[in-house]
Amino acid sequence: MTDRIQQKIGKLVRPEIRALKAYHVPDASGLIKLDAMENPYSWPEDVRREWTEVLRSVALNRYPDPDARRLRERLRAALDVPAGMELILGNGSDELIQIVLMAVSGPRAVVLAPIPTFIMYEMIATFTGMKFVGVPLRPDFSLDRQATLKAIETYKPAVVFLAYPNNPTGNLFSREGVERVIEASPGLVVLDEAYHAFAGHSFMDRLGKHDNLLVMRTLSKQGLAGLRLGILAGPTPWLAEFNKVRLPYNIGSLTQASAEFALTHLALLDDQARQIRYDREQLFQALSRIRGVQAWPSQANFILFRAENRVADQVFEGLRTRGVLIKNLNSSGGMLKGCLRVTVGTPSENDAFLKALEAAL
Ligand code: PMP
Repeated sequence: MTDRIQQKIGKLVRPEIRALKAYHVPDASGLIKLDAMENPYSWPEDVRREWTEVLRSVALNRYPDPDARRLRERLRAALDVPAGMELILGNGSDELIQIVLMAVSGPRAVVLAPIPTFIMYEMIATFTGMKFVGVPLRPDFSLDRQATLKAIETYKPAVVFLAYPNNPTGNLFSREGVERVIEASPGLVVLDEAYHAFAGHSFMDRLGKHDNLLVMRTLSKQGLAGLRLGILAGPTPWLAEFNKVRLPYNIGSLTQASAEFALTHLALLDDQARQIRYDREQLFQALSRIRGVQAWPSQANFILFRAENRVADQVFEGLRTRGVLIKNLNSSGGMLKGCLRVTVGTPSENDAFLKALEAAL
């Protein structure tokens, strides 16, 4: 039976899909979870109570508003989306990447991004039958402007993704470099601002100045990873096309109601982001003081580091056996060989991580 299924898989499933590994999420049970850029804080009890009251009134027997009109209006105000620009929502920004690529994919269409970067750009390019071109960053993780502009000229990508700040390196590319990429690109440029809350810099105000620019955000890093809500802002004609590819009712009623509620507590989300930014600096200083550890400055809610004289796999395991889960990037190879990435947690989680790291080294 299994052999027969394997034979059919060989015939039916595209070779590039067979060659992939499914996105792996390790089991974090019982561990301090610093692997996935989540916000470590929940809401105070009174806010949680208010929220559950809101949820009680959701009509679960009805389909959600397919266009999430009220939520989009609130997001437009909260995110300072320029007048005349539109928004579409996705089940996380992952779904928005998929929607954009489904709309433009074709046998010769290219997706381009500097590498290393967020892995889903390449994965979703593969899912949608597109070619992915990665342009290596410089050793300090800045954009290699010349190489990027040359690759844009050569490949004429349908879409360029720029994570701003970049994951997993944590840095912001220079504003001028990004502008040059937008100007030189014949296709779309998606500025993925997933970590905006910790960076303070944005291209949102450039929407409409460039007709090929889109800005993507997510609520995942601001304490709402469980909701799965991504936001894509840009010129109405582009978004009208993407909206055709979006599945009806992709944002459930509970997500719409919860996100609307969260937006009435923006000060709370901002306070948490401020605390995380402060703790990021403490964590960076502490990491940089550990002999044999090289840490890169970050504008996001995580820090990339390398333990110079130790094998990353051993450091990762040493941390896990001491109860701390981070992300091991060693197998990504290239510039990430030997690298690990830690998400900024609460001060006590960060301390526990630092102690475990010193013991593991
Ligand atoms: N963009 C970047 C740069 C990310 O790092 C991530 C999450 N790791 C995402 C997008 C996806 O976020 P979500 O689907 O949770 O909105």
